[in-house]
Amino acid sequence: MDASDSTLKGNPTLLQSQELYDYILKTSVYPREAASLKELREATANHPLAFYGTEPDSGQLIAILLKLVNAKKTIEIGVFTGYSLLLTALNIPEDGEIIAIDPDRKAYEIGAPIIEKAGVMKKIKFIESLALPVLDKLLEDKDNEGSFDFAFVDADEHNYYNYHQRVMKLVKIGGLMIYDNTLFGGGVVTPEAVLEVKRPLIPPLLEFNKAVAVDDRVELCHVPCGDGVTICRRLR
Ligand code: SAH
Repeated sequence: MDASDSTLKGNPTLLQSQELYDYILKTSVYPREAASLKELREATANHPLAFYGTEPDSGQLIAILLKLVNAKKTIEIGVFTGYSLLLTALNIPEDGEIIAIDPDRKAYEIGAPIIEKAGVMKKIKFIESLALPVLDKLLEDKDNEGSFDFAFVDADEHNYYNYHQRVMKLVKIGGLMIYDNTLFGGGVVTPEAVLEVKRPLIPPLLEFNKAVAVDDRVELCHVPCGDGVTICRRLR
């Protein structure tokens, strides 16, 4: 990587160039993006934290994975305005359900009317809370163990390994756990590429990446799309 990489705008695919990333978005992503997802993305665009939103190319990957495992019951940690939540709701069956956890109800309320209009709100149970206590509460009931098909983790990187330990119990064998931002704007190898305020999240994220890479309970693929997506499939 040369120094100019750190000046790339947005979230270019980290191993490629801005031009290639734009090419992917223009050719393969935006033309296929559901109208409601586009509306939600646009409704979020002027939010000061708009960069929180899951990248639409990662969204496409997640949509395919949801379909491949026939995900019906899912859990999402980190909702923000709801891009990945709406995406999930659109890609699970009519009787599917999503437990969505985020302490920021205000952000969720930006996307909620669009989710409602898309007709998928009935699939969503939004829990306004930090995630760890909710996961621990779910695990108090043995019936929840192995009852989820899919988990999407996109919040609070310093807890990723804590989330992993818990969602490993909630997701069934053969189910998927997806972790977003695992390349962290390139910060995993080039800390100076990310804002100083975000740098304290890099060491715990590096620890997570290292730990999950040698976790033999999962099959893993670390994909350089969006901001880095780690796909884990529970093996046992
Ligand atoms: N998946 C979202 C983006 C999530 S951004 C999308 O596609 O738009 C990260 C979110 O995590 C923020 O909304 C923040 O409020 C939430 N968050 C931060 N700490 C958290 C915690 N401990 N538990 C659950 N959510 C948390």
